[in-house]
Amino acid sequence: MAPSPPEVHVLGAGPTGALTALALGLRGQRVVLFDPLTASELQARSRAYAITHSSRRLLTTLGLWHDLHDALVPFRDLDLRDAATKSQVLFSQTDLATANKNHDGIGWILDHRPLMELLLARLKGNKNVEIHLAEPCPAPSSDALIVAADGPGSPTREAWGIRHWGVRYRQGCLTAKVALRGLAHDRACELFRPEGPFAVLPLGQGTFQVVWSAPWQRCQQRSTLQRSEFLDQLAAVLPPGIEPDRLLDQPRAFPQQWLLAQSFHRGRGVLIGEAAHRCHPVGGQGLNLCWRDVDGLLRAVQRGGSAATIARNYGMSRWLDVIQVGLATDLLVRVFSNRQPLLLPLRHLALQLLKQFSVLRRLSLRAMSDGPMQLWQALPK
Ligand SMILES: Cc1cc2nc3c(=O)[nH]c(=O)nc-3n(C[C@H](O)[C@H](O)[C@H](O)COP(=O)(O)OP(=O)(O)OC[C@H]3O[C@@H](n4cnc5c(N)ncnc54)[C@H](O)[C@@H]3O)c2cc1C
Repeated sequence: MAPSPPEVHVLGAGPTGALTALALGLRGQRVVLFDPLTASELQARSRAYAITHSSRRLLTTLGLWHDLHDALVPFRDLDLRDAATKSQVLFSQTDLATANKNHDGIGWILDHRPLMELLLARLKGNKNVEIHLAEPCPAPSSDALIVAADGPGSPTREAWGIRHWGVRYRQGCLTAKVALRGLAHDRACELFRPEGPFAVLPLGQGTFQVVWSAPWQRCQQRSTLQRSEFLDQLAAVLPPGIEPDRLLDQPRAFPQQWLLAQSFHRGRGVLIGEAAHRCHPVGGQGLNLCWRDVDGLLRAVQRGGSAATIARNYGMSRWLDVIQVGLATDLLVRVFSNRQPLLLPLRHLALQLLKQFSVLRRLSLRAMSDGPMQLWQALPK
């Protein structure tokens, strides 16, 4: 096998950078990890991620799945509704690909804090990884592979002169943790509303995260409402029979964009995670796509070669997956966030077909949970 670079510098210790550093460290690669934030700042984000089967496989390979068990809240049904056409489809575990059945979940919801706690603890215990949080980091050697995992605003991407293409959605998205009544503890809901998609994700013990997309100014205004007013507005958009009890954190509004770097590599550097791409949170694809980048980088490192060869192999391997997920999420948002009379019959038909034909449910669930690239391939056991 061709020799590997002597060291890898990972810039950014968010969920993508931390997992990359750990995965490489576990394979015996010397890694230097840097982030301007402290460990407690890195853990502090109030967000929950929808975790798919592609991420389950990677976390299992890295020996993390078992230790995250108590923090992973499975959802065994996915309730998809289109408010404008009053159509509904229920995905269940029987719609999963055979290799994904028997894992007790269509997907899982994982809170940011336990994820980052485990990643940082494992990184600390790995002798191949040198961590610099909120302190100066030594410069990389001239033959090191440099991995930029520094998020959507990536200063490294800018410094390398890699331009990016982006669509800023008029929609923003608001996240809040709430206690709800009337919703099964193991069911996730994605409701398409004319102002934007609205997701309810189970966090266990009657608590849920809502991810509420709407025009940006409306999101900002909702994030500043009094608790009781916020709960009233939430009650008005929740499906019938589901009622909010309590607000558990401060709702936060985020702008939304579809971002794609023009190249995922330059010289001996690679862009990974949201430094390379970002998509709308509909369908909870974001972090899973970032972690498929980690998988792609591991494969490129395993093939070996100089840092530049690895960077090129990684960059070429990730395009198709990233573009397909970006297009699919963009299409969903555009087609379902309106009341266009010409689109309504098509939307109704699409959801009726999904409801009627299990083969279509299986295909769409497989694209969501394993990524579009795995649609026509046998899944790893
Ligand atoms: C509202 C919302 C809801 C979401 N819901 C989901 C979901 O349900 N499921 C899902 O899969 N995804 C979801 N996502 C997407 C998910 O949050 C992102 O995919 C994920 O945070 C990307 O991780 P990252 O490590 O690539 O980037 P980030 O989390 O942005 O981390 C980047 C890191 O780089 C560091 N950094 C910055 N500058 C530098 C520098 N100069 N040098 C070194 N480091 C630097 C930062 O301090 C930070 O720690 C959601 C996103 C939003 C906005």
